[in-house]
Amino acid sequence: MTAEYRKPLPNPLHWAASKPFWEAAKRHELVMPRCKFCDRLFFYPREVCPRCLRNDIDWVTVSGMGRLHTYTVIHQPANAAFQGDVPYIYAMVQLDEGPRLISNLVDCPPDQAQIDMRVTAVFDDVTPEWTLVKFKPA
Ligand SMILES: [Zn+2]
Repeated sequence: MTAEYRKPLPNPLHWAASKPFWEAAKRHELVMPRCKFCDRLFFYPREVCPRCLRNDIDWVTVSGMGRLHTYTVIHQPANAAFQGDVPYIYAMVQLDEGPRLISNLVDCPPDQAQIDMRVTAVFDDVTPEWTLVKFKPA
């Protein structure tokens, strides 16, 4: 389900480091940066590995499966662009492959969200230019 946004959506910061993530999302694919030296996946995207500080990074496709690590229900969004979505679930998801990311839990009434519930990635084409990675109950 795609909401109609009447106010400008915020755009991603640090475009150079996150470009592969957003391009993959547009293809409805979830990718994570991986350090080629220590083989660690990490998120958020950055130019150096947070573990070994090397800058030899590639991107790997992940399953999109994970669990709800924690969440909160938003009734008053920090950005006015999301006012039409309330209430919505602001979620931290732990991917099966390891990294955690901030997203939304959709297709789940707020009173049915549970810590550790299984979730799977879904892709919301919010504008012609941008696709957001969200999660729904698996
Ligand atoms: Zn590393």
